[in-house]
Amino acid sequence: MRLEFIGTGNALDTMMSNCSFFVRGSKNLLVDCGYDIPRRLFEHPDAITQIDGIYLTHFHGDHSFGFPFLILALEKQGRRDALQIIGQPGTKEFLLGLLRMAYPSVIDRLSFELEFIESINPLRFGGMQLEFAKTAHGRSNYAVKISDNDAVIGISGDGALSDESRDLFTDCQLLVHDACTLEEPYETHESARNVVEYCAKSCPTLRALACVHLLESERAERKVDYMALAANLHFSVMVPEPGDSWAVG
Ligand SMILES: [Zn+2]
Ligand SMILES: [Zn+2]
Repeated sequence: MRLEFIGTGNALDTMMSNCSFFVRGSKNLLVDCGYDIPRRLFEHPDAITQIDGIYLTHFHGDHSFGFPFLILALEKQGRRDALQIIGQPGTKEFLLGLLRMAYPSVIDRLSFELEFIESINPLRFGGMQLEFAKTAHGRSNYAVKISDNDAVIGISGDGALSDESRDLFTDCQLLVHDACTLEEPYETHESARNVVEYCAKSCPTLRALACVHLLESERAERKVDYMALAANLHFSVMVPEPGDSWAVG
């Protein structure tokens, strides 16, 4: 599997696009679609044509408000294949509501089917296995673990580590985690130090931790300190930028 970082910023980032990731494996899955992600996806032309499905971690606008524009772009491309959309209960009503607000007539004329799968229990997505765990966030957020053959990637979405997400991520090779701040957690987000401590103790197969959703001030002033957190540990810590990618398995 390969994960492409479409965006790695927080909700009000002036430089970075919203957190969104394109996972290429036996299927191609877009994880989250914030308000400026469709614009970014156009810069990865293959992504738009090769997308098989979307996973939505939660309903905050920086993770979901790009959905109507993505659907519009797929429609314009003449897509015929059904698009699978996976998320927690309520995802269908929420996303169709967004689509109706943005472009009321689009739903009736869509050239492809929107296939909603609302689940917080493990499910198959082609050859991929998806598993979920709730994090501690201001709005109900489910982290996802994607397993494809021997490759395992975890993506937190927003929020602090919870007992469930700690159990979920233990066998990941790549973990993409909310690390808004370096030291003390900010609001209902996580700190890089907490995630690194957890990974050092509980994730023996981890190769890389990608810290995302950073506050701009943290990224500007402390990026080097983030990467230094992994000194003498069995994995690296990175602060990826849009356009970066990482392969596992
Ligand atoms: Zn967010
Ligand atoms: Zn959020």
